[in-house]
Parts: sequence; C-alpha cells; structure tokens
Amino acid sequence: MQTGTLSKPSVPTPGISTLDNIINGKKATSRTDERIPVTDPSTGEILAQVPLSGRGDVDDAVKSAVGAREKWSSMPIKERAQVFYRYKRLLEERAEDLAALVHQENGKIMAEAVAEIEKAIEVTEFACGLPQLVAGEILEVSRGVECRIDRYPVGTVASITPFNFPNMVPNWTIPNALALGNTMILKPSEQVPLSSMRIADLLKEAGLPDGVFNVVHGAQSVVEALCDHPGIDALTFVGSTRVAKIVYGRATSRMKRALCLGGAKNHLIVLPDANEDMTASNVAASMSGCAGQRCMAASAMVGVGPVDSIIRKICDKAKKIIPGKNLGPVISPQAKERIERYITEAEQMGGKILLDGRNARVPGREGGYYVGPTIIDFVRPDMKIAQEEVFGPVLAIMRAQTVDEAIAIENSSPYGNAASVFTQSGGMARHVMEHASAGMIGVNIGVPVPREPFSFGGWNESKFGAGDITGRSSIEFFTKLKKTTIKWNPESRVNWMS
Ligand code: NAD
Repeated sequence: MQTGTLSKPSVPTPGISTLDNIINGKKATSRTDERIPVTDPSTGEILAQVPLSGRGDVDDAVKSAVGAREKWSSMPIKERAQVFYRYKRLLEERAEDLAALVHQENGKIMAEAVAEIEKAIEVTEFACGLPQLVAGEILEVSRGVECRIDRYPVGTVASITPFNFPNMVPNWTIPNALALGNTMILKPSEQVPLSSMRIADLLKEAGLPDGVFNVVHGAQSVVEALCDHPGIDALTFVGSTRVAKIVYGRATSRMKRALCLGGAKNHLIVLPDANEDMTASNVAASMSGCAGQRCMAASAMVGVGPVDSIIRKICDKAKKIIPGKNLGPVISPQAKERIERYITEAEQMGGKILLDGRNARVPGREGGYYVGPTIIDFVRPDMKIAQEEVFGPVLAIMRAQTVDEAIAIENSSPYGNAASVFTQSGGMARHVMEHASAGMIGVNIGVPVPREPFSFGGWNESKFGAGDITGRSSIEFFTKLKKTTIKWNPESRVNWMS
C-alpha cells in the first residue's frame, strides 16, 4: 500500500488495481486513460484506482440499460420483487463485509458502517413490498365504461451519489427503481467507488438480469454525459447544493425527470426545559456521527434562554468522542483543511471555542484526515459558520431569547433538510414543528431520518424537484401513470361519456 492525495489525477500506480465499469453484467475497462487514487481516509493509503470515464463509457452503459428494459419491465412486479428478497438476504448475510468496505473507503467507524448497511436493508425490504403498494385503480365512470390506471416504469434512470454513504445512498434508489421496472446506471462518488462494485456483485448473485444495473465510474464528465444522453429518462442526484443545482438545471433542460438532493445546515433548537442528559447525548451524537459528514447532522444549535448547563453537558459528552477510537476521519486532506478553516474564521470573528478539534493526531495513523469534535459558542447568525455547510464534526451554537427568534434563525438558512427541537413542552414542540422551514423535523431526536415507508427529502436548497427519494414518494418518481378508458358495452343508450 502507498500513501497519496485524493482527487489528484495521476498516472496508473504500479501494483494498485484499477476498477472496471460494470456494463451488461460484465466488467468493462473504461475507454479513457485517466485514473485517480481511492484512498483510505484513516491512513492515507491508496486502496485502488478509479477511472474517470467519459461519454463513450456512458454510451455503452445506456445501450446496455436500454437493451435490458423491455424484458425486465414486462416481467410482473411480483417476480421482479423476488430478486430483491434475495438481494436483501445477501445484504444481511454479508453485512459485516459490506460494512468493513464502507469503513475502509469512507473512514466511518464500524458501528456507523453497520448502521448504514442496516438502512440499506430497510430500504430493500420496502422494495420487496412494492407489489402491495402499486396496484392500480379501476372505476366504472359511466354506464358500462371503466377507467383504469396502471403504473409503468419511467425507463432508464441515472443515479448519482455522494461520498458520505457509499452503500446506503446508492441503495436509496436501486431497489425501488429496479423493482418498479426501470433499468439503471449508477455513477458512484469517485471518492468511494468500491462499495458499488460489491452492490453490483450482489445484485447479479440475487438473479438480476444483465444490463438492468450498470456502473460507470468517474466524475463531472460522466454526470454531464448522463444529463445529456437521450437514452436516460430520469435522473436522481445526491450531493452538494452547488452541484445539485447544476445537475438539476442540465437534466431538466434536456427534458428529463430529475430529483436532486443537496446539502444542509440543520438546526437544533434547545429550550431550557429540555431533558438535559438526553439532549446532550443527542446533540453530541448528531454533530459528530460519521465525523459530521451527514446531510442530517446537526451543525447549528440555537439555545433559547438559560441553557448553559445543557451546553456544559454537551461538551462533556463530546470530550468522550475520540478521533481514531469512536470518531472516524473526514474524507480527504482538502476536507480537513476546509473544516479547520471554518473553525479558525469563526474564532477570529468572536466565536468562543469550547472544544477544539483542530490538529487532531491519531498515533499510528498519522496519514489519516482526522478532525476532533469542535464546539463553538456565541456564534452570530451572520457568521459564515452559521450559514454554510461545514460537513465536519463541528457544532456552532447561537443564542436566542425566545423560541420565535430561534425559529427566525432557522428560517433564514437557505437550506431546509432537517430541524429538531428539544423540549418537554408539547405546545412548544408543536410550534417548532409547524414553523421550521425544513422537510424533516425531529422532536427530541438529533438525527430525524424518516424510517420506511416514510420518505426522505428536504426543502428549499436541500432538494430540487418534486417528491422525495425513498419511501412511498419514490413510487411517483420512478413510475408514470397510464390512464385507460374501456367500453365493452353494446347498448345503444349511450351518452358522450359512454
Ligand atoms: P458532491 O456534490 O461533490 O458530489 C456528488 C456527486 O456529484 C459525485 O458523484 C461527484 O462525482 C459528482 N460531481 C461533483 N462535481 C460535479 C460537477 N461539477 N458536475 C457534475 N457532477 C459532479 O458531493 P459530495 O462531496 O460527494 O457529498 C457531500 C454532499 O452531499 C454534502 O453537501 C451533503 O450534505 C450532501 N448529501 C446530501 C444528502 C441529502 O439527502 N440531501 C445525502 C447525502 C449527502
């Protein structure tokens, strides 16, 4: 193993294998020569090289996915769902190996990687039940005349995913989109491409026909080619808001159905009557879990009134979160530098550092990209750290005198993924639930991820496009409706509607 820097184009490194794309059920060498290293963030070791594929590779994948469409989509959904029963069993049987791979390429600790696989299993379980949810409708609308609605797959879907959940986020779309009869091209994050290879293996082992699921590795140019390709009917994207906007604009301008999930700045509103221990545990876990690299992470807390003792307890809990032990690294040296810059700027602007995670070192893993848990108090809403997504284990604490002032701070964020309130008052909780401007709300919960069948998706600049990406809402995205009007009635006594 060798050490190296992420995301820098390099010539092939001897002794380090290069990933293939997966096209029509087989490994396919990328048509381009560009390769970048995939690095273990906890050590800096190079694990593999990933090709930066191009339009030619996308053409091959689209041909494969379009070619597989007719046979797959005409199979009854109950038969397609059987593949996902088998896939779910494989995910369960191989959970530990899959988690170990996530841990290796993303850096998150094993317990977090296992939780990621558990969520992938839950989404797959939902897909197994889709036949029970997508039965059509039929009604006699006029004497002897029936209208019926049937759901059809949209066609060929592209799924573009980020680095922070290498297994779960691809699985947000794969089981539902495929069980509903679509074929797919996955473009995983070039920073964590290994899990997608394992997913492709498991789908094949579960009996998915060749061509239904394809993987094209790469970065911006693959995404652009997917947005532009006339063979792609719909596209999902999960990643930063900056890129989500570009991709949504480009895909929809090519008349594709698109759903693009972006970044986040999630606020936790803490009231003085909150249960102190429970609140402190939830806040500390939310800001630091997965090294703060979750779109559901709490990165801003608004303390309402006298909450100093809760803040002290949050710090006590956070001090027990140790880099290299129960806290993984961030994804890259660039991410570490960016996060530490945010902390330094906040300090310079008058924020009070209660816990400082800069310059974290893990003995024996000096090449890892660690940032310790960081808590900054007396942050003002106009500061950069209060407004922008930091995506690291950093909590910015703002102070408000009233709950409405806290809600106004939350509302002023351009994002709207999640917001939580900590209180023992039902009335106050209800008030925040109603007025927070976010798609996913928590009451006494630090990471309010909806569980299946409820769907996942934010508001505002955290999501572009209608509907959500998982759960019941995803059925609308991955299908289109056919409305048929039928008359077998020979009676002459008919009006214009019969
Ligand atoms: P990113 O936007 O950098 O990359 C996401 C994907 O887009 C990757 O596959 C990447 O190759 C591709 N990409 C990058 N630049 C591109 C460009 N200019 N044009 C086209 N494609 C491009 O995101 P990331 O750093 O991998 O992931 C972290 C971000 O994802 C955070 O902002 C986080 O909040 C967000 N995220 C959001 C959700 C959600 O549900 N809202 C879930 C997970 C992560």
